[in-house]
Amino acid sequence: MTTAGTIFSAAKGDATRSLISDPARFESEVLEPIRAIVGERGVITDRDTMQPLMVAWRDSWEGRVPLVVMPATTEELGAVVAICAKTNTPIVPQGGNTGLTGASQPHGDNSEIVISTQRMNKIREIDLDNDTITVDAGVVLQVIQETAKANGRLFPLSLGAEGSCQIGGNISTNAGGVQALRYGTARALVAGLEVVLPDGQIWNGLRGLRKDNAGYDLKQMFIGAEGTLGIITAATLKLLPLPTASATAFLATPSPVTAVAWLRRAKSMLGECITTVELMERRCIDVAMKHNSGIRDPLPTRYDWYLLVEIADQGKHDSLEERLLSVFEAGVEGEELIDGVIASSAEQAAAIWRIREGTPEGQRLEGASYKHDVSVPISKVAQFISEANSALETRFPGLRSFAFGHLGDGNIHYNPLQAEGGDKATWQSYLPEVNQIVHDIVARLGGSITAEHGIGRLRIEEVPRYKSDVEMTMMRKLKQCFDPDNLMNPGKLLKMERASE
Ligand code: FAD
Repeated sequence: MTTAGTIFSAAKGDATRSLISDPARFESEVLEPIRAIVGERGVITDRDTMQPLMVAWRDSWEGRVPLVVMPATTEELGAVVAICAKTNTPIVPQGGNTGLTGASQPHGDNSEIVISTQRMNKIREIDLDNDTITVDAGVVLQVIQETAKANGRLFPLSLGAEGSCQIGGNISTNAGGVQALRYGTARALVAGLEVVLPDGQIWNGLRGLRKDNAGYDLKQMFIGAEGTLGIITAATLKLLPLPTASATAFLATPSPVTAVAWLRRAKSMLGECITTVELMERRCIDVAMKHNSGIRDPLPTRYDWYLLVEIADQGKHDSLEERLLSVFEAGVEGEELIDGVIASSAEQAAAIWRIREGTPEGQRLEGASYKHDVSVPISKVAQFISEANSALETRFPGLRSFAFGHLGDGNIHYNPLQAEGGDKATWQSYLPEVNQIVHDIVARLGGSITAEHGIGRLRIEEVPRYKSDVEMTMMRKLKQCFDPDNLMNPGKLLKMERASE
């Protein structure tokens, strides 16, 4: 293992501006030295081949770069970053490219290179006594889940993009997903990290400890940093006991107020075993069914609001089902629930999940919508939805709001959609105003304008409105400390001046 600072020069390069604008020097001082480190398989310069890495999942951003680098090891990646530091070459770190905020795509002006962790995809070690697994940053989330399961353990991070996103990206976005209520976000699952710093040094913090009070907890700096402080090359992750049974229900509730009241009851009756409580309004079910032929409403009657609930534990399915049934009955008695169904087979459970999973795609096909990924204290979720609906309906009569998401951790995806038959371009021109109406309510209720997707480019202009000067200054100082030349994912998360420009 390389020792920090012994192989790669940490010295700042003599270049005062990026060499990308000088093709001959870029080729001789950046491209060729990098090719010598990573080999032919590790570089892409052909535009068609790199195109899928330039565009965002939602097509909202498209970038352009002269070079994509795919190192195969931490040492290679460190050496590549050292060349970038020396030649003042800005870097966009990229994992599975499933991020939703424009943070993993380069800008469109050919001013950066992409370093992708795609080829760093090895499971390094699994330690069952310590309940940890150590993996390269480019391992796909689903592979980690499957490896844990094959060893009788659970890696509980779970999200719609799990077949494509990589653990380095998950950690860099502090991803949440559908089981964060019980297991926390990615941050709660990281025991240690290995990181290449912006000058190319390698920090090996793969400690795997539950207790470590020897100074600042530096790994926390890189979790949720969106690649702006360094490139994560490996992680030691916590594993949990694998539940032996689960039960899934689709419940109808009169309103978000009753949904929250039932959640409070369910937590006290079911304790730790609740893994998922997703809230959906009726419109979500309608668009999911309209645009996906395989989705059915499991209940014969229409209601206004629904909960998708999953519990999991050791023991037998039947006893879990009974526990879910008793909290359902208590909810009906308390007028928090009005109807519901508990899945009696894995197929039925999967059919219920398809409603939730089909909601974002159904909405996309339904018309132009604004996406808000906000969080408020759970006790304020109902107030948030009601105030946001009424403020937007007053300003934009006919708009259709879609509120759904992770009620269990106060994270609501709130996506107002253009009025039926309305003009898409006009509706899209209202974006800044809609964002401000929604986010001002979130801020007033003590919430965050990005619960799990991050800031990236999507929210970079808005963040200073919702953070104090003290907080913005601390963030800038942290960035300057790690990356004084602003070479790591510039223009994402935080606006900075390049020191050398
Ligand atoms: P990328 O998109 O490649 O990168 C994301 C950010 O991390 C960028 O800033 C990038 O520069 C940085 N980065 C990537 N790898 C590294 C590294 N090794 N070191 C340093 N920085 C790095 N997100 C949720 O939180 N919850 C959800 O429920 C959820 N559901 C989704 C469903 C769908 C269908 C889709 C498409 C996305 C969803 N997302 C969700 C968003 C996305 O999947 C997550 O943000 C995910 O964690 C991104 O991982 P990635 O590997 O694709 O990272």
